[in-house]
Amino acid sequence: MIKPDAVESGYIGPILAKISSAGFKIVAMKFTQLSRRDAREFYAIHKGRPFFDELIQFMTRGPIVSAILEKDNAVEDFRALIGATNPQEAAEGTIRKLYAKDIGENAVHGSDSDENAGIEGAFHFSGREIYT
Ligand code: GDP
Repeated sequence: MIKPDAVESGYIGPILAKISSAGFKIVAMKFTQLSRRDAREFYAIHKGRPFFDELIQFMTRGPIVSAILEKDNAVEDFRALIGATNPQEAAEGTIRKLYAKDIGENAVHGSDSDENAGIEGAFHFSGREIYT
C-alpha cells in the first residue's frame, strides 16, 4: 500500500517509479479508501498496541493505493526498498527515507512474509482483479 500521507503529499508517481525501476511487476492495483472496519481487520495483529487507534485513524483518513507486486525474493527485496519502519532509521535512498514523515505516517506498507502477502493480496483484490 501507498499510505494516506504519501498520497496526500503527491508521492504516488515517485513511489511507483522507484518500485518499477527496482524490478517489481505490478499484477494488481487500485486507488481506494479503507473503512475503519477494513483497517481494523488489516492491522488486527496490532490490536492492543498503544498506537493502534492512531494507526486506524491514519490509515482511514484518505485514499491509499494498494497493489500486488511480483518479483523473485519479493518480500525481502521490497522491505529493503522501503526501509525501516521509522524513517529516521531507514537507509539512504529507501522509500521511507525519501517520502515518510515519521514512524506512524511512513508512506508505504510491505508484507512481511509470503504467507501474509497472499492473505493481504486477497484482502484487497478479488481473483479477477489480479493479472497473472
Ligand atoms: P512495518 O511492517 O514496517 O509496517 O511495521 P509494523 O508491522 O511494526 O507496524 C505496522 C504499522 O504500524 C507501521 O508501518 C506504522 O504505520 C504503524 N506503527 C508502528 N509502530 C508505531 C508507533 O510506535 N507509533 C505509531 N504511531 N505508529 C506505529
